[in-house]
Amino acid sequence: MMKHKGVLTVVSGFSGAGKGTLMNLLLKTYENYALSISMTTRAPRPGEENGREYFFITKEEFEEHIAKDELIEYAQYVGNYYGTPKAYVEEKLNEGKDVILEIEIQGALKIKEKFPEALLLFVTPPNAAELQKRLKGRGTETDEVILQRLHRAAEESEGIEQYDYLVVNDDLNECVQQMHTIIRNAKYAAFRNEEFIQDIRQELKDLAKGEKI
Ligand code: ADP
Ligand code: 5GP
Repeated sequence: MMKHKGVLTVVSGFSGAGKGTLMNLLLKTYENYALSISMTTRAPRPGEENGREYFFITKEEFEEHIAKDELIEYAQYVGNYYGTPKAYVEEKLNEGKDVILEIEIQGALKIKEKFPEALLLFVTPPNAAELQKRLKGRGTETDEVILQRLHRAAEESEGIEQYDYLVVNDDLNECVQQMHTIIRNAKYAAFRNEEFIQDIRQELKDLAKGEKI
């Protein structure tokens, strides 16, 4: 049977679109996913744990990771640094896992540059009013921060066409199913199976010599 490599998937979406909720359910429902845990300089929200949602570090520590080239990508988002540690992603991809990076758009585009075979998904709520409702309903940010995030969402909406797929998070279960289907199908794209193609090409050339007929 054809063996597929793990797919590096980037999931972006407006703050409050439901990315965290979706990722939790995706990982609970299906095997073979590995979710990268980012580093950030933002303060933990109530209920968040260091090493689970993020590695919460200081600006100085973050800048040291940049200097040591330990991040695959990093970006600033509404006044804080966020970045993806390199070691975990490389390790899990080598194990054949489907690695998910839940990161914002600047980071997503850097990943696409470094890993052209990466799959880019953008998650939105069904409409903007629902986004505001979810942000307020989450109850973890002040109205001022919510407004900053809505501003940033309006900017981010300009970049959606640069993603491979757009997924609407209306019904949570349906959305998780759709994401899983997209990632599974991406494994079959010819350009993600270059090694298999090269192998069968060589085998055919060898067989066509007719020495074994
Ligand atoms: P993000 O990680 O994109 O910032 P969250 O996962 O924190 O978003 O979700 C924001 C809020 O919206 C949370 O309170 C969450 O429970 C809620 N939420 C997520 N998905 C849905 C959905 N499909 N329908 C209704 N509410 C949702
Ligand atoms: P939040 O503060 O809501 O957890 O995250 C804010 C934004 O930062 C979200 O859009 C989230 O996807 C993004 N983000 C989280 N981790 C990273 C990362 O490692 N790199 C980049 N570029 N963005 C990240």
